[in-house]
Amino acid sequence: MKTIVIGGGASGLVAAINASVFNNEIIILERNNSCGKKILVTGNGHCNYFHENITKDNYHSKYKELDNLINKDNLSKTLSFLNNVGIIPKIKNGYYYPYSDQAISVLNALMEEINKKNNIKIYTNTFVSNIKKENELFIVETNNGEYHADKIIVSVGGASFPKSGSDGSLYRTLELFGHNIIKPLPALVGLKVKENVKELKGVRSEVEVTLLENDKVIRKEKGELQHNEDSISGICIMQLSSRAVRGLENNMQEEIHINYVKDIAENKEEFINFLKAQSKILGSPKITFILDQVLNYKLTNYFLKTLKIPNLPLDEISSLKLLSLCENITNYKLTIIGNNGFSSAQVTSGGVDLNDVNLKTLESKHLSNLYFCGEVLDVDGDCGGYNLAFAFLSGIIAGKSVGDNRK
Ligand SMILES: Cc1cc2nc3c(=O)[nH]c(=O)nc-3n(C[C@H](O)[C@H](O)[C@H](O)COP(=O)(O)OP(=O)(O)OC[C@H]3O[C@@H](n4cnc5c(N)ncnc54)[C@H](O)[C@@H]3O)c2cc1C
Repeated sequence: MKTIVIGGGASGLVAAINASVFNNEIIILERNNSCGKKILVTGNGHCNYFHENITKDNYHSKYKELDNLINKDNLSKTLSFLNNVGIIPKIKNGYYYPYSDQAISVLNALMEEINKKNNIKIYTNTFVSNIKKENELFIVETNNGEYHADKIIVSVGGASFPKSGSDGSLYRTLELFGHNIIKPLPALVGLKVKENVKELKGVRSEVEVTLLENDKVIRKEKGELQHNEDSISGICIMQLSSRAVRGLENNMQEEIHINYVKDIAENKEEFINFLKAQSKILGSPKITFILDQVLNYKLTNYFLKTLKIPNLPLDEISSLKLLSLCENITNYKLTIIGNNGFSSAQVTSGGVDLNDVNLKTLESKHLSNLYFCGEVLDVDGDCGGYNLAFAFLSGIIAGKSVGDNRK
């Protein structure tokens, strides 16, 4: 029995290891000159590969019963697998990293396991352009000629971060086999805003952000936000991005509201009280003196300028102006009009519709002996180890299914 794994990333490597039981012959076809390039850039080179508290709610998909896939049983099998290949975790606030703090430790552990198996071969610099099925045999077309196999595991990733090798090259082929492809969109990505906030470029602040879709609060996040030329980024923004990008695609109105002083005031009234108290203690200094203690100076200047507020002591500023200043600082509204694109997105939302896949085996419902794992499927996770966790979890299922279903 010969199985071809298309794509030697996180999910494909794990699938190959799990498929190699029962002495199946496994071939990994990888377009890059080595496997696992993306693993090396994860977590800024530290590789946040799992999380202590994973539930289906950390993931996004059109398919609503994700607990059929992301459940305690599958997660504990995933963690056991990772431990068994020798990855030693360092857990920081629930986030799993390799103890060495280096992503290469994770890749090395997987590659070592592959090297131990004498029935797995890797062909690098091999780009798969098409898959055909003739009778019971798969024919895989590549730049290095055709490969034949009884079973195929598709683990080519999504369309995000294409310089690592994943550029959505097989969506069309999979569609022609009858699979519904949920439109791939960038996720875990910076968001473009309508307002002209160029002046704030480079400002980084610890904030609370709220995503509103058609004026309804969807989700709140805390963390560092970065202002760029025409976009906002940072982990708190990335966490909201999957929903916001998909919402825009569906013609929803997406807004992000920012509280720049989250630890001081929850709303404008509380912030006015704070400013008044500070003004009293400090003997009525000019307003910039108080604001500069709690805000990046670019934010202070920006708000005073755009709201046409003079730099005077607090009690010389009209209460209407003061109210609007505090409203802006605690609830600054930005309209989302796009995203920074696949080139910088960490993951892809969308992909092969889970309705077209048997979730127990990850085998296609349209073409027997064709399996999927990883980001090519319509599952994207939050930032925090959830995406690699899913790549590994699904790689184990697809790999084991291939092994178990010997013909
Ligand atoms: C900058 C960055 C940081 C990230 N940090 C984290 C993190 O800290 N924690 C986390 O959980 N997730 C993180 N992710 C997401 C995570 O890396 C991915 O979700 C995960 O790697 C997906 O695994 P995969 O195997 O499905 O796809 P990939 O890792 O993309 O692997 C797909 C492989 O298939 C190959 N391939 C593609 N098309 C073809 C073809 N036609 N023929 C042959 N080979 C092909 C590619 O070259 C690639 O090697 C990060 C992503 C990025 C970009």
